[in-house]
Amino acid sequence: MPEEDNNFNFKWDPLRNIADDPDEVLKRVDERLDSLEKERFSGKKDKDGNLENIFSLHGVTRRDFIKWSAFLTSAMMLPYIFSPRVARAANILTRTPFIWLDMADCMGNTEAFIRTAHPTPAEIILNYVSVDYMESIMAPAGYQAEARRIETVKKHKGKYILVVEGAIPTGLNGKFLTIGAKGDSGLKIAKETSKDAGIIVAIGNCASYGGIPAARPNPTSAVGLSSVTNRQVINIPACPANPVNVVGTLVEYILVGKAPQLDSLGRPLWAYSGRLHDNCYRRGHFEAGEYVRQWGDEGAKKQYCLYMMGCKGPFTWNNCTVVEYNQDISFPMRAGHGCIGCSQPAFWDRMTPFEKPNADAKIILPMVEATADEFGVALLGAAGAGIAAHAIYTGVKKKRESKKTSEKKKSDSDKNDDNNDK
Ligand code: SF4
Ligand code: SF4
Repeated sequence: MPEEDNNFNFKWDPLRNIADDPDEVLKRVDERLDSLEKERFSGKKDKDGNLENIFSLHGVTRRDFIKWSAFLTSAMMLPYIFSPRVARAANILTRTPFIWLDMADCMGNTEAFIRTAHPTPAEIILNYVSVDYMESIMAPAGYQAEARRIETVKKHKGKYILVVEGAIPTGLNGKFLTIGAKGDSGLKIAKETSKDAGIIVAIGNCASYGGIPAARPNPTSAVGLSSVTNRQVINIPACPANPVNVVGTLVEYILVGKAPQLDSLGRPLWAYSGRLHDNCYRRGHFEAGEYVRQWGDEGAKKQYCLYMMGCKGPFTWNNCTVVEYNQDISFPMRAGHGCIGCSQPAFWDRMTPFEKPNADAKIILPMVEATADEFGVALLGAAGAGIAAHAIYTGVKKKRESKKTSEKKKSDSDKNDDNNDK
């Protein structure tokens, strides 16, 4: 289980270190938005009608949009005063040049955004961004498509947003993945296109850490984007990435002109500073020792904790239990299945089997640090007695003490045997 995934020491800086004085921050953000609006819209009518028109096509009212801006502002851990500025930034985002590269992947992120029956404002915004190059939806093909990518890089040098989906195969000098009429490798294209981007976002687990293409034995030597470029890469892992986290990261870039604060795995702290377990609505059952032990059992009907069915929520950092998926109404545990840990590096190797607790994973809670085995044995006693974390702690401690005692007895008896032999 990843030892490095410890965001407990995270210090939140909602004003992103852009100035010490809050008034100065707002002034600088407003100036930046004014200048971007001037650059990207032809006039006031164009600017005011842009998102309004887009949303009205999807039945999203102005009121819904205001509510959504407030939701995104709080998800991004920004003060409420930023809410109208977040709305302005979302509007500008739809006019910012984009290049979206697809590498080795299932295109699950693209599918999740473009095929939603009732898209959320975040998904609508992603559908309407000014994508200058995206193989799956663009009209040009072959040489024309390649020319468009090269032209966008040249024309919008330092300004375009680069989104990469999928892992980069590096084996055989990248030849496991060739793209386009000239047969350039994904590795070459990813490197070239990263060089002059304004900001680079790796979307999904494959682009962030290699994901499933990089799972053992990783025959194509696939890696995440950050391993092939020396530019800063913002990772938005998950399978698929949550549109709220993608749009929030890009909106922040429009607001302040730089990447959000990132953790040691390159993830924006506002989205990935907590574990799913910290905010899960089943957490009370975890503490009370009430677990689903078989699919469809009484515990499942009562929505008990899914830890014993393999839930990886205690080891996974993401905001799924807060912002949720599918029109912000659900996430795996609400649907009755545990988290599979898809936001963590190497989750396919480290989090499997998905429906069993990981034997060597450390559960770290106040007073408790135990592997699933120690935890499970302690739990049987604790659940039987109907008591919670401190009982589990006592159980774990007792189990460790009894293990130490038996090890000591064994070593004493070995010493006696040695003495007898002498
Ligand atoms: S183990 Fe999973 S289901 Fe149980 S409380 Fe934690 S996140 Fe929720
Ligand atoms: S709940 Fe777990 S498996 Fe599902 S998207 Fe979130 S991190 Fe991935």
